[in-house]
Amino acid sequence: MTKYVYDFAEGGRDMKDLLGGKGANLAEMTNLGLPVPPGFTITTQACQAYLDSGTVPAELAEEVSGHLEVLEVRMGKRLGDAVDPLLVSVRSGAKFSMPGMMDTVLNIGLNDESVAGLTKQSGSARFAWDSYRRLVQMFGKTVLGVDGEQFEHALDEAKKAKGAKTDLELDEHDLQALVAQFQQIVQDSTGAPFPQEPRAQMDLATEAVFDSWNGDRAKLYRRQERIPADLGTAVNVCSMVFGNIGMDSGTGVAFTRDPGSGAQGVYGDYLQNAQGEDVVAGVRNTLPLEDLEGLDKASYDALLAIMATLEGHYLDLCDIEFTIERGKLWMLQTRVGKRTAGAAFRIATQLVDEGLIDMDEALQRVTGAQLVRLMFPAFAAADEQDDDRVLLGKGMGASPGAAVGKAVFDSETAVAWAARGEDVVLVRRETTPDDLSGMIAAQGILTSRGGKTSHAAVVARGMGKTCVCGAEDLAVDLVERTITAPDGTVVREGDVLSIDGTSGVVYLGEVAVRPSPAVEYFEGSLAAEDGDDLVQAIHRVIGHADAARRLGVRANADTQEDAERSRRFGAEGIGLCRTEHMFLGDRRQLVEDLVLAQGGDEQAAALDALLPLQREDFSGILRAMDGLPVTVRLLDPPLHEFLPDIVELSVELAVAEERGETPDAKRVVLHEAVHRLHESNPMIGLRGVRLGLVIPGLFGMQVRALAQAAKELLDAGLDPRPEVMVPLVGAVQELEVVREEAEQILADVGVQALIGTMIEVPRAALTSGQIAESADFFSFGTNDLTQMSWGFSRDDVEASFFARYLDLGIFGVSPFETLDRDGVGRLVRLAVEEGRKAKPELKVGVCGEHGGDPESVHFFHEVGLNYVSCSPFRVPVARLEAGRAALGPA
Ligand code: ADP
Ligand code: MG
Ligand code: MG
Repeated sequence: MTKYVYDFAEGGRDMKDLLGGKGANLAEMTNLGLPVPPGFTITTQACQAYLDSGTVPAELAEEVSGHLEVLEVRMGKRLGDAVDPLLVSVRSGAKFSMPGMMDTVLNIGLNDESVAGLTKQSGSARFAWDSYRRLVQMFGKTVLGVDGEQFEHALDEAKKAKGAKTDLELDEHDLQALVAQFQQIVQDSTGAPFPQEPRAQMDLATEAVFDSWNGDRAKLYRRQERIPADLGTAVNVCSMVFGNIGMDSGTGVAFTRDPGSGAQGVYGDYLQNAQGEDVVAGVRNTLPLEDLEGLDKASYDALLAIMATLEGHYLDLCDIEFTIERGKLWMLQTRVGKRTAGAAFRIATQLVDEGLIDMDEALQRVTGAQLVRLMFPAFAAADEQDDDRVLLGKGMGASPGAAVGKAVFDSETAVAWAARGEDVVLVRRETTPDDLSGMIAAQGILTSRGGKTSHAAVVARGMGKTCVCGAEDLAVDLVERTITAPDGTVVREGDVLSIDGTSGVVYLGEVAVRPSPAVEYFEGSLAAEDGDDLVQAIHRVIGHADAARRLGVRANADTQEDAERSRRFGAEGIGLCRTEHMFLGDRRQLVEDLVLAQGGDEQAAALDALLPLQREDFSGILRAMDGLPVTVRLLDPPLHEFLPDIVELSVELAVAEERGETPDAKRVVLHEAVHRLHESNPMIGLRGVRLGLVIPGLFGMQVRALAQAAKELLDAGLDPRPEVMVPLVGAVQELEVVREEAEQILADVGVQALIGTMIEVPRAALTSGQIAESADFFSFGTNDLTQMSWGFSRDDVEASFFARYLDLGIFGVSPFETLDRDGVGRLVRLAVEEGRKAKPELKVGVCGEHGGDPESVHFFHEVGLNYVSCSPFRVPVARLEAGRAALGPA
């Protein structure tokens, strides 16, 4: 029989799949001997069973009863008992932390009778009624689906009636009246009274947590974070401890290091006489954690000691939630904390320097995605740049980066404006999980309330999105859609804001940006030793990755400048030099001539005119990559891409005819040619090697230009390493024809070059054993291979139905972003195996965009490619991930 319930003492940190992150870490802390209120965890398996069948598994109720009984005996109280009630919280907790899921319900077990028992036991009627009011409110909102605004409104009215600024000024009578009012709201909204039966409260809350797995916000978050849709959530039932029992009690959150910079110290917020989410929700102003020392030195010292224990145990930055009940400290949560990309690199190397982890481990603790974030530009200093910036105010830099966009004041507007291609900055007083879609759509987020642990800050950091929070001197008016700065400046919706997520500074107007220090370092304009601690951390980590990795890293570069940059970024060659842009601009005319050529002489003349231009193109690139391989792909796209648009040309001729003019004879011939070459499905038409075989001399000219360019450099004493790559081959015979001609030309010119092919048509992968006979190398064109394996063209499908597919979970992530391992990946694996079987020395690489995607890089490592090739900017990311892949699964 499946075991669905685990006591906290039965679990551990490695059981996140089953117990969720929260449950696993509660168990870990329990077993470390830390003061965790006792409780138990209902597994993700129970949730999966519930979601699959629509009902809780039959055995669950009994198992829960067993664990509840043990808990009751241990606590010496019974759940919801009228005289001395045990109260519990019911808390969601998936494997990965998910802000989109159900809020926790606290104080379960309170009802009209047990509230009296709690009064008696605690000696505080105010506390008992405050707890009950919270239960009805939270339970009503999250379990029964009552509009939370109604409760908020009633609470605000009660405060107003009293002239009270905060909830603390409400007394037991006010709170008791509120409970009655809240219960009436529940009755009116749901048609049923607030459930009084303690166990029913617990079971209903449990099911609501299960259901929240499939809430809209949770789904959206999962998609954004690429969390699989079938994991389910665990449910933690935890005996209550009370921070709202007086001023000697309170609740707080803390980090063991600064999640923004990685610096060691005391970081956190504390709120006296408060419960649960009061700290993050910003109901009252929090105190900095240091102030706890003056309020309750014993608890403060105990907390610091526990934080040290946790860091020593997890060997990483941890974040924690704690509550103090009448001078006694309780730990309610910990996890390896989210951090900014910069902090991730800094902390990893700090921990190495502290002797806690080694460099392999440090490399595993950072990701390519984090490195990408560090390569974003930052605002230039005011004295470096002349722009129209106006300083509006300053908040907390909660998630770094430089964001520029139009101010919008709600999520819907953010989404709508972003959809029409505008950059926006989402401005809110504070954010809630309802703002998730707007946060995703925005360049950055600005809030006027809340600290570094507020919802906006935590979620933005997780998404790598720029965020400034708690800009309290900026008055945000959501109704008028304005921000008013202290000096009276008014910002309206649509005005451009620039927000600096590092310093927290907010500007009106567009502020110029400058490259990040990380990019300056990769560019070589900033030496590692001259950089700050972040640059030095990156330098150490990437150096370690280079030493560890087995995959080579090349760049996709078509110009000399790109080639130079990618070499500075660490590329070990060019894996894809496209030649199509070399046929555009002024040279279009020559392509037209080639297409229109009547017979061999005209054709030869057109090719002769193109040859020296091509030679120049290649020469610059080979020079930039001297001593490293340069893979040149022969012309790939269909010819009509270089010709005038068919519609325009037809209109031109029709207009001429209408006016009774004789159309230009050349335009008529051109029109015919364009017609002839027009394809209804160009992606699978006359392109790639097919084109090379149909237009005699075209590929030959390209090979000759490359060979001549190489020869010149050779003669000048350089070391060019050209490689010829034939696109879109589906049968070895195609390659043989091209190869024969190319070999001849290379021999004529007196240059050696590898000749290989792209594997981007499924048939090529399936016959790779044959193709390898004629190829010195394979390079997977995973964009086309993905399109042709799925039978859809990227340009057509991404906008039309991908969103729906992602919603339905048919894709976890777009197969154009991350290689589809099961399908396309299988073809790749097969082609590598069969190709190498036929020719052991075959070189194999990839040059699709997947070559710079972290997850895909791991796959390419696994299947044993020789190299990945990606856009120049991604080269450092590929180096890092190739190093991580070589260390094995993290
Ligand atoms: P979240 O995942 O949103 O942080 P939690 O389950 O951690 O949700 O709970 C929300 C708040 O309630 C947190 O501040 C937490 O510390 C507090 N809390 C949860 N369980 C208890 C409990 N048993 N006693 C006191 N406070 C609790
Ligand atoms: Mg929590
Ligand atoms: Mg292709």
